[in-house]
Amino acid sequence: MKAGDWNYEIFWKEAMNQLQEEISEQEFLMWFRNMEYLASNDSQIVVSVPSTFYKDQVNQRYLRKIESKLFELSGHKIALVFNIQQKEAAKAAEQVDHPAERREQAAERQKASPAPRKGKRSQGQLNGEYNFERFVRGENNDFAYMASYAIARNPGKAYNPCMIYGGVGLGKTHLLQAIGNSSYQEFEELKVVYVTAETFTNEFILAIKENTSHRFKNKYRSVDMLLIDDVHFLPGKVETQEELFHTFNALYDANKQMVFTSDRPVSELKKLSDRLRSRFERGLNVDLQPPNYETRIAILKKKIEEKKVVLPEEVVELVCQNIKTNVRDLEKALTKLIAYAELVNKTVTLEIAQRQLKDFFTEYDQKNVTIDLVQRVVADYFGLSLNDLKGKKRNKAIAFPRQLAMYITRDLTEFSTTEVGLEFGGRDHTTVMHSCQRIDDRIKTDPTLAPAIQHLTRSIKEYRSPT
Ligand code: ADP
Ligand code: MG
Repeated sequence: MKAGDWNYEIFWKEAMNQLQEEISEQEFLMWFRNMEYLASNDSQIVVSVPSTFYKDQVNQRYLRKIESKLFELSGHKIALVFNIQQKEAAKAAEQVDHPAERREQAAERQKASPAPRKGKRSQGQLNGEYNFERFVRGENNDFAYMASYAIARNPGKAYNPCMIYGGVGLGKTHLLQAIGNSSYQEFEELKVVYVTAETFTNEFILAIKENTSHRFKNKYRSVDMLLIDDVHFLPGKVETQEELFHTFNALYDANKQMVFTSDRPVSELKKLSDRLRSRFERGLNVDLQPPNYETRIAILKKKIEEKKVVLPEEVVELVCQNIKTNVRDLEKALTKLIAYAELVNKTVTLEIAQRQLKDFFTEYDQKNVTIDLVQRVVADYFGLSLNDLKGKKRNKAIAFPRQLAMYITRDLTEFSTTEVGLEFGGRDHTTVMHSCQRIDDRIKTDPTLAPAIQHLTRSIKEYRSPT
């Protein structure tokens, strides 16, 4: 067998499936949600983990188990190799959950990012790699870029507040942090705070618990620039919204700059208090759209240049033709190709790229399924209205389709049980888990159910709006 023929992703997936059955859902989500298969050769499988902390924990708790599964599946020893790749959300969450890890993470981050240029300052919470120079402009993001740039030049004066919204992986965090990085370097005295809405919430909860809310208030009300990422996390969190509302007013009255990001327009954020909504809508609202083909090529080429690797033009085109809406996925595909090339020490040809990314492209295809689409197709199939499907009624004729829709949503999309619950009339994540379990059980006893699910799944994929 040639080196290029090794592909143990299938064993990896199966080992993960088995493990998922053996440990609790919470445990599985905790340790394996952020782990992704990257590449393999005849004796190794490389997977990504978000930090050294994860790596050590997984090593300690699960390595033997996983490697013995891989041994059983493949008939020989395959070692697991971890490749550390930090993600923003994971970083933020870990800082709250494991304060002791903070120093280690900061050190790690410093190693990973290039040394700050002379004369330039950078700040703990901000990742210096997210700057304006590295952001590729296109018609999809130019307005948001220019607004962000203007804010960084003129904090508190240009557009205040500003809301940047757009789908996942389109550069919201990048722009938000670029504003922070740039103005932090430009204005010596400026006190910049970047925080995700999730961290803000967790800190607030902790402050209440520990009776230190005055310190929390002081911290956020004394900044010159407040950057809050992913405010779509706030809906439903009543007290945190209340606190943010007051923070907003204090900063606004003092002409301090505020920038927020959200994965959808403010008008579509449900369960947000009216007064916070009106604050968010007060300033400039700019959107980020998916990049078109030319912009995707430009972005990918820039990433290739930054990573100092060489990829043939046709491979670049292949990736950009297949991955259409999301810069993060462009990066993932690139990481995968680079990991593979390093592992087998070969140049990536078109053929190799096609083979290596095949599953990725298929999986990616499935990602464009929305919860709304699943709900529509399932409601239609059972002759129900969308309102009924999402509503409160609990009679069997509605409850079963609803459970089925949740089950299919979990199967076809990457939304968490919390997110799915929210879209199904604000139900709790345990309800979603319970529904999926019910359907799983029924599949075992009702032979007509699996074909019905297959039919629905096919219809959903066919309906999927062209991208
Ligand atoms: P979001 O916060 O919208 O989910 P991110 O800002 O995290 O997305 O972007 C995902 C990845 O894509 C990041 O690594 C970011 O640097 C990169 N990225 C997004 N848009 C661009 C762009 N226009 N030019 C260069 N890199 C980009
Ligand atoms: Mg983000």
